[in-house]
Amino acid sequence: MKLLSVILPAYNEEKMIEKARDTLGRILSEQDIPYEIVFVDDGSKDQTWSEIEKAAEKDNHVAGVHFSRNFGKESAMMAGLASAGGDCCVVMDCDLQHPPETVVEMYRLWEQGYEVVEGVKHSRGKESLAHRASAGMFYKIISKAVGIDMSRASDFKLLDRKAVDALLEMPERNAFFRALSAWIGYKTTSVEFDVREREEGVSKWSTKSLIRYAITNIVSFSSA
Ligand code: UDP
Ligand code: MG
Repeated sequence: MKLLSVILPAYNEEKMIEKARDTLGRILSEQDIPYEIVFVDDGSKDQTWSEIEKAAEKDNHVAGVHFSRNFGKESAMMAGLASAGGDCCVVMDCDLQHPPETVVEMYRLWEQGYEVVEGVKHSRGKESLAHRASAGMFYKIISKAVGIDMSRASDFKLLDRKAVDALLEMPERNAFFRALSAWIGYKTTSVEFDVREREEGVSKWSTKSLIRYAITNIVSFSSA
């Protein structure tokens, strides 16, 4: 049987760890999909890491990676991929804004031979006007700079083992995951999903951090 690794970067998500474990576990075992869940604690200041330890203790599907400080989601996703053992890996947010049912859809497409399955946003869900405006600006600039329409792109993806290894071999340290996974090639398809409302906690993005993210990614992903 083919193992699926689900990688969940987590920064101050103490309330979401058990929820994510439980929800994903139920859906994947119902579907008879062999799985592991890899939480990456990105230097949280709350009880995220002890929640991960608790989850790993009671459920042997669960593993954890612990960062000494906050390195950012990009680094957390890469570390999760590096420690995952699956024949394919799904990266998703641990606030469950990426619907866990879509993971099943991605896995079935992978079984049919697709090597990269991109999660594409059908709708952005509820967010403040200011956040929507700065995110809109971010995508406009980044799409122009990168030369790919990124407005509906997300970090919610399935990657075959081959694609994971290719990503990990790249020397990029400041990776832009959602663009790199398209850039490496491979047999690709996509699934649409509706961004759900965050159940607990708050978004980690401020307008300032979005601007920083935009600049880093334009610098690393275009000749400009
Ligand atoms: N995240 C992370 N490190 C950070 C910021 C966020 O690992 O420095 C994680 C966070 O815990 C969540 C995912 O990245 O699982 C998406 O973050 P968030 O929900 O804050 O972003 P939004 O949904 O508002 O775009
Ligand atoms: Mg979120």
